[in-house]
Amino acid sequence: MSQRKHTGRRRRRSPYLFIIIMVILLIALFMVGVGALNAWDDYEKEAAVTPIPSPVPTATVSPVIVTRDPYFVTHTPVPSPTPSMLSVGSKGQMVTDLQLRLQQLGYYTGAIDGDYGSGSKSAVEIFQRQHGLDADGIAGSQTLSMLYSDRAKPMKKNDVIPDGAPLLVNREHPVESGFVPADLVRVKDIAGNAFDVYSDSSVQGVREAVTALTEMINAARVEGFKPWKLAEGYRTLKYQQRIFDNQVEEYMEERDMSRSQAVSATRLTVADAGQSEHHTGLAFDLNVPGEFFGDTAQYLWILENCWDYGFILRYTDEKQDITGFMGEEWHVRYVGKEHSLKIKELGYCLEEYIDYLNRQ
Ligand SMILES: [Zn+2]
Repeated sequence: MSQRKHTGRRRRRSPYLFIIIMVILLIALFMVGVGALNAWDDYEKEAAVTPIPSPVPTATVSPVIVTRDPYFVTHTPVPSPTPSMLSVGSKGQMVTDLQLRLQQLGYYTGAIDGDYGSGSKSAVEIFQRQHGLDADGIAGSQTLSMLYSDRAKPMKKNDVIPDGAPLLVNREHPVESGFVPADLVRVKDIAGNAFDVYSDSSVQGVREAVTALTEMINAARVEGFKPWKLAEGYRTLKYQQRIFDNQVEEYMEERDMSRSQAVSATRLTVADAGQSEHHTGLAFDLNVPGEFFGDTAQYLWILENCWDYGFILRYTDEKQDITGFMGEEWHVRYVGKEHSLKIKELGYCLEEYIDYLNRQ
């Protein structure tokens, strides 16, 4: 009973409490409503000025940060080289990335030390050459974007020269800048009268090669093959550049070619500076005064016998696709007897022979 009474008293009080609670709730609801409306209004105003950025496709795995302005999208870089140029003397993470990438592609075998030295430079040069870029050894924006792109090709097999193999110099393998062969001698000082004519009495060559050359020409003379003219031997970089430029000028003047046409035509017969075998001091151009060497008996003798003296005929029409040079009957290259006899036997050009040594 007493309980009922108690309940009854509560029931009588509850309508007031209910009304108060409802009023408070209504006020609260009203205020929230006004706030929400204001917020919506603000949002609409802002949206009218700044459109909601549409999703930007993520091209790479890197996260995309969308800033307030939808036109500015920041990608976290995949080693993206911000300093647009790295060269000898550059240091730091960018260089480390460069060295790692060059190593990955087989161009660089040196230490990954973040220090752009001569090793990094020559790796960059080879990379540039193999990708049709200006081979200046400076990793500029063009080189860097090629290097980090899908178009970056691994280094050609030939670039690994086995120990003891003949020195290879061609378009892909220029001599290192500043290279000067050891033990250069004046050909005339050793060959003397083996040659009837010297195009230039100061022509030089590496002693071992000049000694073999002298022996070869004297052997030919003994068999009655003469006269002989020595046209070319060791060429300095500067001299090579002069020969190249002269040929370009000549084509432009005499054949009315544009400069780029003349440069292309010149490249068929003259190496770019640094890419000539003559820079090795191991290559010589033989002539017979007043005649085209390829038509002479002297040439036939060389073709038959040069191998026995450690020489090869470096450029033949047959191998033009590989060497990149038209046949040059007059150009002999000293590789040493061990190699020259093997090269003769295999019928390879030097590029093929070095490939062959690599496979052994
Ligand atoms: Zn030559």
